[in-house]
Amino acid sequence: MPTPDEPGEPKATAPEAAPVESPAGGTASTGVPAATPTTGGTDSGALAYPKPRKKRDMPGGLWMRCEACESMIFKKEMERRSRVCPECGYHFKITSRERIDVTLDPGSFEEEHADMAARDRLGFFDRISYAERLKETEKKTGHKDCAVIGRGRIKGQLVYFGAIEFNFIGGSMGAVMGEKIAIAFEQGRELHVPVIVFSASGGARMMEGALSLMQMAKTCAALKRLSDAGGLFISVLTDPTTGGVTASYASLGDVVIAEPGALIGFAGPRVIQETIKQELPPGFQSAEFMLEHGFVDRIVPRERMRDELAKIIEYCVPGAAETIAAWVATHAVARPAGEQAGP
Ligand SMILES: [Zn+2]
Repeated sequence: MPTPDEPGEPKATAPEAAPVESPAGGTASTGVPAATPTTGGTDSGALAYPKPRKKRDMPGGLWMRCEACESMIFKKEMERRSRVCPECGYHFKITSRERIDVTLDPGSFEEEHADMAARDRLGFFDRISYAERLKETEKKTGHKDCAVIGRGRIKGQLVYFGAIEFNFIGGSMGAVMGEKIAIAFEQGRELHVPVIVFSASGGARMMEGALSLMQMAKTCAALKRLSDAGGLFISVLTDPTTGGVTASYASLGDVVIAEPGALIGFAGPRVIQETIKQELPPGFQSAEFMLEHGFVDRIVPRERMRDELAKIIEYCVPGAAETIAAWVATHAVARPAGEQAGP
């Protein structure tokens, strides 16, 4: 367990959907990258081989290239399918807000403890200070830390819901995330409702040193209390779930679900390969591999996730079946045309 969790962790923050670092504009305006063409003298013959690049940042952003199958896909169609590639079924990463939208009943989520913010208790410094990184990340993501928790409903059934924001320092688990996850379990116990957490994390937050590692024990202890009280915890592992998060609460669900193709593991494959001095089997650390080896119980595509969660809750929570049946009866008729994922 004390192995240096995910060493490349800070890197994990960057590779997301490149929210262009325009210094002036603050928020989520994508797609104006074409404005820096002929600045220096370096782009010798940039026009000579335009094909592969051009498509990538096509004006208006109507089309995009799938990271997995490389086909050009219609962005609207991909978004309509909850950000899943219509060609190959690749599940693009989604933000915690999008996760809430595609999973819970519309408008049912009430966030709690949104103002709980991480602090730099160790005076940690890498490329920039941790305090500065926190400030920057808050500005970029609109979150004060990576866990978003609160009450919500799935087909009318009240649940306590958590989603990890991967764009916030790689969804890494520091003191705040640990506290929020523990609160989620505690609330589940007090309210007698199922707890669902969607994880996406590079592991423990190294900038908080040992404090981050303590969150593994803390979340597990809270989860044990929920379990002792007969509560239900459904853990959903999304791409990627690694390090101390996998090694603690995330793999302790009563039901452990994964999204297709998600990377799930503890240390990275290179570290493992060097340690055990053996070739790793193909597909190692994929959700499918983990299913085959009994680490996860089900792989559920994003579009069916809501239905599956409702079904599991129906099976496991007394009284939930009636609530859900009543909800379905009232919502099956009047479903707005453009709704996500169906009832
Ligand atoms: Zn694809």
